[in-house]
Amino acid sequence: MAVGVSRPQVLCPDCLRRRVPAAVRRVLGTLEDAGWQAYLVGGCVRDLLRDVGPKDWDVATDARPEAVMALFPRVRPTGIAHGTVTVLTRGGPVEVTTFRVEEAYTDHRHPDAVRFVAEIEADLSRRDFTINAMALDSGGRLVDPFGGLEDLLIHRRVRAVGDPESRFREDALRLLRAVRFAAELDLEIDPQTLAAVGPNASLLTHVSAERVRDEFSRIVTSRAPGRALEVMRQTDLLAQFLPELLEGVGVEQNIHHRYDVWTHALLSVANTPPRLELRLAALLHDVAKPRCLVVENGERHFYHHEVVGAHLTRSVLRRLRYPTAVIDRVVHLVRRHMDLHHQRDMSDAAVRRLVRRIGLEHLDDLLVLRRADRIASGNKPGAVSRGTRRLLERIDRVLAEDAAFGLKDLAVDGHDVMRVAGIGPGPAVGRILNALLEAVLDDPGLNTRPALEDLVRQYARALERGEALPRPAPEPAEAAESATAAAGPDPGREGRDDHA
Ligand code: ATP
Ligand code: MG
Repeated sequence: MAVGVSRPQVLCPDCLRRRVPAAVRRVLGTLEDAGWQAYLVGGCVRDLLRDVGPKDWDVATDARPEAVMALFPRVRPTGIAHGTVTVLTRGGPVEVTTFRVEEAYTDHRHPDAVRFVAEIEADLSRRDFTINAMALDSGGRLVDPFGGLEDLLIHRRVRAVGDPESRFREDALRLLRAVRFAAELDLEIDPQTLAAVGPNASLLTHVSAERVRDEFSRIVTSRAPGRALEVMRQTDLLAQFLPELLEGVGVEQNIHHRYDVWTHALLSVANTPPRLELRLAALLHDVAKPRCLVVENGERHFYHHEVVGAHLTRSVLRRLRYPTAVIDRVVHLVRRHMDLHHQRDMSDAAVRRLVRRIGLEHLDDLLVLRRADRIASGNKPGAVSRGTRRLLERIDRVLAEDAAFGLKDLAVDGHDVMRVAGIGPGPAVGRILNALLEAVLDDPGLNTRPALEDLVRQYARALERGEALPRPAPEPAEAAESATAAAGPDPGREGRDDHA
């Protein structure tokens, strides 16, 4: 321990016993009994000091990995070259890493080499931010050479350990980590640290899309996503991996909106519960508005921005390497975010078709988005518009009828179709099933075995004659998918107060 540095006791023995699982304490004890130093480090120390239960436990020691492996019966050599051994305990895995420093980062991401060292202070100095550069020993004493405790609890700031410029140049992922910790822990980024983000933002291109995605997801689902996104705009971080969103900056809308497209997106995210797909959909729902803007008689319109936006969303999320399931869900929500507007003269069949298009499992999410969208417009009272409320009532009514909204709700299945039509498996089965659904969406009374079997026979004969079967009518907006983005007004949509 460095001379003259006192180590305050920040957790009493009782608190330690209560907050640190026995299995983790035993790992520290086993190392100490063997004559080594052992500390809790990183995120778990931060969380203990904030009085939050840590998600995982990291231990730092001066014992070399081989010595650590010899001390514990169940270990996994996670990253021996970097000094990390995972000790498997009954309380879960504990990562034990040898004190180390990192040398030269020529690729702005990974150290060229690591070197084991004898002192915890040296190990802490390689860590990114002061709040992450604290260590706690088994007696509850804190090693805090950079003022992390005060930064965490008093100044409430994310501050780089050492010179921010060089720390960001070493590892560009830290640029996003700074924003992420600020967003998750509700801290400010220290001005000097913040000043070094912008000039180094372009180094983010050295970071893999997957790492960017993981940090971005945590930022988007954090408790202060709007502020974090604004910081990422101002520091040019967003320009590196999501420039499409910046197209909305300063794009004024129309009488229905108080804010520009960008601010509206931030407010939408902030008013959505912290689930990744919902938050991404809120962030991206109007991403195509700038590209769809047309001015007619002095009025600004964004025709079909949900269609263009769905395409844009897919390409953005693919680039960021989101899993297909996440992408499909977000794209669907963006594509459908205008659907909960009541349209004039909607028949019950049209309402059933709408439910079919949205998918029952997406209805609640769409409603959540609709509410966030409305709040984020800045000048509309009430959680939902009259039009939306009327549509929801009609949806409730068709749902209560126990109608069919998908192939699985039909009174017959593919086997029945093959048997009745006398055909084998093939595309004709699907075509007939879809045609049956169309018939049932028009008239739910047809959803009985005998009625559908009659229809199957009719459709099979029609197919034999080479005739086409009923198919879903294209939506007005669908035309825009193949044609240009800004086609023309969508007739018949009611409650214009609530969209554009
Ligand atoms: P969380 O687990 O909530 O993301 P954490 O602080 O535990 O937070 P990890 O990524 O698990 O973050 O890393 C553990 C510790 O390792 C950090 O607290 C920090 O001390 C150090 N660390 C992690 N990544 C970096 C990095 N890119 N540069 C410097 N130090 C880092
Ligand atoms: Mg961690």
